[in-house]
Amino acid sequence: MSSRIPVLELEDVSVAYDTHNGPVQAVNRVNLKVYPEEIVGLVGESGSGKSTLAYAIMRLLKGAAFLQNGTIKVMGKDIYAMSPKELQAFRWAQMSMVFQSAMSALNPVMTVEQQFIDTLRSHNKQMTLEQCRMRAAELMDLVRIDPKYLGSYPHQLSGGMRQRVVIAIAIALEPAFVIMDEPTTALDVVVQRSILDQIQAIQRKVHFAVLFISHDFSLVAELAQRVAIMYAGRMVEVADSRALTQTENHHPYTEGLLRAIPRLTADEIVIEGIPGHPPNLVSLPSGCAFHPRCPYVTDECRQQRPSLYEVGTAEIECHRYAGQKVVQHV
Ligand code: SF4
Repeated sequence: MSSRIPVLELEDVSVAYDTHNGPVQAVNRVNLKVYPEEIVGLVGESGSGKSTLAYAIMRLLKGAAFLQNGTIKVMGKDIYAMSPKELQAFRWAQMSMVFQSAMSALNPVMTVEQQFIDTLRSHNKQMTLEQCRMRAAELMDLVRIDPKYLGSYPHQLSGGMRQRVVIAIAIALEPAFVIMDEPTTALDVVVQRSILDQIQAIQRKVHFAVLFISHDFSLVAELAQRVAIMYAGRMVEVADSRALTQTENHHPYTEGLLRAIPRLTADEIVIEGIPGHPPNLVSLPSGCAFHPRCPYVTDECRQQRPSLYEVGTAEIECHRYAGQKVVQHV
């Protein structure tokens, strides 16, 4: 896989929020590569930095948030070195994003068809109205919605249909890389399942790479080929999905996430939570930020942030693996 050119390359990426007391780091020196046609899951609790990272990749950081360090390349192009015009042409055509809430991603006063036409024409002014309409119908078919709904307004569609329309618009220009930020969170479990099946089917047909963000570890482990786990702004483990359940060497936070997947025993559903709460980014614990919640904590953990180690096919940031090869990303 390493001989292929990545569609996404994050090198030592930090994102911070400006506050009265100085910058607060939401994403801290993150490295990750996503390869063509690959689905990589990005998992973490609320406030772990995963959505902030997604907005940084799209160069959509707003307000007090800013890229503090590092390089973000999509299809080999440095996103932050592009002029606004270059970025406008690149975004949606080469990389796109499906946001958490379909309702806020769609324009409530435009029909679905108008929204497809806008997206298609914004990147190809030569497309005739007829060509746009045909492409919109094709895309609706792809996400299994009857094209007769093209004339509908977003509020006339169900939540599941709206989210599928958003996915269809995101892939309208055939980008090589799509970020999906909790695309099914607001939907009920049955609709969620059917949308995930469709994402996999479409991805196999259209061949784009996906960074799939979720707090639902079991869902991501099922959907993605690799999983990246974030905690307090750090990427604490990146592992093959299959290895997650087949090997025992993981970051203690990953172990907690694995134990937190509901298990059905003879007469009950067992769910084990991770004790404690995610830390406040304004006052992170010293050393390893996971130490107040970790069952293996030592004095070293409280004092010193661990290095990133190569453990089998995974990369894990934890003192327990000291002695393994240290990963040097940059
Ligand atoms: Fe736990 Fe220490 Fe590893 Fe952090 S470095 S996860 S505290 S064992």
